Amino acid sequence: MLPLKEKDKPVVQKLLSAGCCPRCVLRFCCVSVQAAYRRPRQDTLKELQAFISNTDNDKSTESTDENNKSHDAAVSDPPSKRAKLEPSAEEDDAAAVKPKDEESRVCVVCLGILQELCDTAQAVKISEAVKAEKYEFDTLVLSVSLPAQLCVREHSCWLHVKKELREKSIALDKDDVVQVKEAFKWIMQGLVAKELGGVAVVTRSMFEVGVEFTHPETDADCHFLASTCPDCFKPTKNKQSVFTRMAVVKALEKIADAKFLKHSPCPPARPSSSCTPQGVQCLHVSVFVAGRYNKFCRSLPQTPWVIDGERRMESSVEELIAAPVVSSFRADGFNFSSSGREDVDVRTLGNGRPFAMELLNPHKSRLNKVEMKQLQETINESSDKIRVRDLQIVTREAMSRMKEGEEEKTKSYTALVWTQKPIQREDIAFIDDIKDLTLDQKTPLRVLHRRALAVRQRVVHTMTTRFLDSHHFHLGLKTQAGTYIKEFVHGDFGRTKPNLCVLLKTDTDILELDVESVDVDWPPPIPE
Ligand code: ZN
Repeated sequence: MLPLKEKDKPVVQKLLSAGCCPRCVLRFCCVSVQAAYRRPRQDTLKELQAFISNTDNDKSTESTDENNKSHDAAVSDPPSKRAKLEPSAEEDDAAAVKPKDEESRVCVVCLGILQELCDTAQAVKISEAVKAEKYEFDTLVLSVSLPAQLCVREHSCWLHVKKELREKSIALDKDDVVQVKEAFKWIMQGLVAKELGGVAVVTRSMFEVGVEFTHPETDADCHFLASTCPDCFKPTKNKQSVFTRMAVVKALEKIADAKFLKHSPCPPARPSSSCTPQGVQCLHVSVFVAGRYNKFCRSLPQTPWVIDGERRMESSVEELIAAPVVSSFRADGFNFSSSGREDVDVRTLGNGRPFAMELLNPHKSRLNKVEMKQLQETINESSDKIRVRDLQIVTREAMSRMKEGEEEKTKSYTALVWTQKPIQREDIAFIDDIKDLTLDQKTPLRVLHRRALAVRQRVVHTMTTRFLDSHHFHLGLKTQAGTYIKEFVHGDFGRTKPNLCVLLKTDTDILELDVESVDVDWPPPIPE
């Protein structure tokens, strides 16, 4: 039986005659027993009608208790017997047709949300939509978005019962009223779980299934609030309408009862139709994947290179890595980041450069070690321009380790240097003895279009030379991250000081550059 008390009777009476559905009546009676909402609403309606008619028939408390008992008995009776009892609970001429009529009318408060919009048929629709997208998940959270004007109806209904409650000096706060959203979830969670074969529908999950309802017929219901509380309705860039749920709730908190009642009928007017369910939106939280990459090609940019809408290079590091990863996790998209980046003509050798990817709305969120290894192989087999190692799933938090302290990290390079003047082995040997050389680097001309003009100090920790011929040698450098190596070699018209031209007293240029190592200890190595 319904957990209602004697004091609820006038409220039940008032709400039923105002056109509230039985579940909304329970909400306004602050019934927080979830099971009460899950019962067929026709049964609840019958019970509510019996509940109030008992008072009408007999005012004494004792006999009310008696009636309640017999009423309990009626509920547990077979349906045929119960059906016979119904007309006796009705008072007016239309007694015989009223129950059915009442059931089919759209609730003035929830606009049908707690009526036919939360039953097994709806649960089937939701679960079919989820199944169609073939997500892999253990639990899901059900979210529901209701039309903002529902809050106006809720407020109107609240004012409708408030007067009654005041007169009876019953303490009831608006916050105690069970929200439509809550009741909807209490009913639907179990039904959706059942349709999805017993998946746990919980309050927090990586996987969210959202259902949205609109009710165009009553969209204008909340518009008067814009004139009574203009502060609450400021246009925002991303919203289609200023009448967001948040704004409407805020305005309703501010508006005086008398002013509200001037603009809005109380109780709310009868709608002619129920809310319209919009599509089911499924969203899985992002999965993060990290690893290290080598780049072996001097004509491969890190990101797609597009100038004036035209592609300059056929592929990129990012695309070569992302394509197999996105397809394995069946993600909708990705964000790629790495510990620094190299120019298109620079190779990255050694252990490679740490990178991380955020996979957006992945339909599959877990790959075991074997599957990750296979994925890594798929990437490596797809192209000989790049190679990936240490591929693994990481947390969002762990990703920040890649970026933190990036400036303090060291990087090692090898440059192929050309000298204008002929050189001998011994001419360059002194370079090996230079330690911790501090450079003043004015923003290079080649990056001036995207970086602010400044002088940055960077340290070249060590250098090693390897003589090749009278005009060429290999220069190995270990530097602070962020050092512009090319500019150190050719001097950038004196914008980098000191530079190799100054040190060797001849013009020098850089012909090739390789990154040998990026000394970031993340992500952790994965044994082969
Ligand atoms: Zn309702």
